[in-house]
Amino acid sequence: MKNTDLLNIAKTYGDPVYVYDSEKIISQFTRLTKAFSGVKKLQLNYAAKALSNITILKLMNSLGSGLDTVSIQEVQLGLLAGFKPEHIIFTPNGVSLEEIEEAAKLGVRINIDNLSILEQFGSRHPNVPVCIRINPHVMAGGNSNISVGHIDSKFGISIHQIPHLLRIVELTKMNINGIHMHTGSDILDIDVFLYASEILFETAKNFKNLDFIDFGSGFKVPYKDGDIETNIEELGKKLSEKFNDFCASYGKELTLAFEPGKFLVSESGYFLAKVNVVKQTTSTVFASIDSGFNHLIRPMLYGSYHGIENISNPEGRERYYSVVGYICETDTFASNRRINEISEGDILSFKNSGAYCFTMASNYNSRFRPPEVLWHKGEAILIRERETFEDIIQHQVDVKNLFSKKEKATV
Ligand SMILES: *Cc1c(COP(=O)(O)O)cnc(C)c1O
Repeated sequence: MKNTDLLNIAKTYGDPVYVYDSEKIISQFTRLTKAFSGVKKLQLNYAAKALSNITILKLMNSLGSGLDTVSIQEVQLGLLAGFKPEHIIFTPNGVSLEEIEEAAKLGVRINIDNLSILEQFGSRHPNVPVCIRINPHVMAGGNSNISVGHIDSKFGISIHQIPHLLRIVELTKMNINGIHMHTGSDILDIDVFLYASEILFETAKNFKNLDFIDFGSGFKVPYKDGDIETNIEELGKKLSEKFNDFCASYGKELTLAFEPGKFLVSESGYFLAKVNVVKQTTSTVFASIDSGFNHLIRPMLYGSYHGIENISNPEGRERYYSVVGYICETDTFASNRRINEISEGDILSFKNSGAYCFTMASNYNSRFRPPEVLWHKGEAILIRERETFEDIIQHQVDVKNLFSKKEKATV
């Protein structure tokens, strides 16, 4: 997308505003599909939690993607967006048996990640096929917030519990139709991922009626120049080979499934915010924007990097800035960042704002969540309106006459 297009969108819809470029989403989807063209049956299930606007879900559906969901509400959103139930997989962690039963009733595929629920669900619904989430105990990436395959992770059934798992399956006579893993958010080393996949293949041999093996996600996208990016093409080639070998020995053509979130939408997104104040202190220059972690929390939550460009002055002299928000907490987006000279009123564009940005937004400080705009075939389409004061108060119960007499402390 061109800066002038972004500036026009900020002018039309106000700021702050999220913008998503459909072309980038489509090209990422195509790239991943091509990388795995070596397998006969491939199913990409977009992870809805990354960016769950219904228009984005419809775009994914039109591309032939399935949907990976982690709550009953995401399941409902997926159905509303037109996904067939069998193209939705429910992959929750730590939810109640009732929620899983509700999803099963809607006809979506079920993925269970602990033995307690597996035993209860299997006893009550032996005829509903179930996929199991395995924890292969492989450390992918260095940040413990985003490496979910290691030994202390809350996700998945440990490979060391396979004997117990098999006993449950045998006793309940349930049907295991898929094996799943999601090791973490960053595949930095393809060999580590392939090693985890070997563990998954070993586990899969225990089940006779599999339809698919789901390798989760973890595709890393670049955030800045020089960043390591998962080499999708190399991974595709190597994993496809191993997968085809496995299918040959298993005696059945299985589906290879993935659940990419970030890979499909991260780079499509731009978050645009206006600079309210440029403040020179004794140690730095702050650029305060009309936003905060209520709109984009990733830098504060887990230190993620978002490239920041001053699209109002792209040719300006570069200077160092600390970009901060307006929230009454420390909400630093970037420290000591070189950005083209900033004046009050300039629009800053935050890159990689497609995944886990809007979906993590809140109303903290009683602020409105921003609108979302889809840039599609050279046209800006509003896909979510900015919230209004009505949204802030609509579920609050304004109890009348509760404090009609002045309250006093009883000592
Ligand atoms: C969040 C999640 C994903 C998507 O992860 P990305 O890093 O965004 O690709 C996939 N599978 C499961 C089970 C998840 O919870």
